[in-house]
Amino acid sequence: MGAHIVFLGPPGSGKGTQSVLLGKKLKVAHVNVGEMLREAIRTKSPVGVTAREYLDRGELVPDSLVIRLVGDLLSHPPASNGFILDGFPRTLLQAEELEKLLEGDGGKLRHAIYLRVSKEKVLDRLTLRLVCGACSAVYHQKYSPPREKGKCDACGGGLTGRNDDRPDVVARRLAIYEKESQPILDYYRKKGILREVDGNGRPEEVTRTLYEVVGVK
Ligand code: AMP
Repeated sequence: MGAHIVFLGPPGSGKGTQSVLLGKKLKVAHVNVGEMLREAIRTKSPVGVTAREYLDRGELVPDSLVIRLVGDLLSHPPASNGFILDGFPRTLLQAEELEKLLEGDGGKLRHAIYLRVSKEKVLDRLTLRLVCGACSAVYHQKYSPPREKGKCDACGGGLTGRNDDRPDVVARRLAIYEKESQPILDYYRKKGILREVDGNGRPEEVTRTLYEVVGVK
């Protein structure tokens, strides 16, 4: 049975960066729910048409929609050998539904990684974040700028700030995170699988701590 892992933490905590690295290290599928929704919006699929207004406002997409999306995905073979979920669960109901989905498959979550980051750090990271429109690579104007201004190092695509990284939308996203996250943390703490990782440091430092916590070299 492969590793089933979820990443928790506020927007800007480094979930995306760290979960991609861990997924490669463990050779398991990496699922980024926010990215799936942005892709659905880009292609104007029915899911995208519904999701768009929520993302624009910085609100959570309805549980029923994301649970269906994740359920479909996890039933596909690439995820059956384990997965890393980035950005799911974001509500207690999603956490409970995920457990049911896994039970149906004889699977179980091994780790719920909680990247703990101060609010100041989160604001600093989000407002200066740049994302590649072509390959979704993430940069930061101050801490990890691209070699050439406005251009992705990896694929040469154009870099822009995310629509929902505008200060008013960020404030809304953080308020929702603060309201929804505690019950999820309590839920996994009770199950004995919550792993707290200090996410305030430089990306390499956080990765080192993360690998120690999940027991990989
Ligand atoms: P992210 O890229 O993880 O910051 O997610 C971007 C946006 O996608 C969020 O602000 C929500 O609108 C939506 N979203 C992502 N994951 C979820 C989820 N598990 N439940 C509801 N909405 C989500």
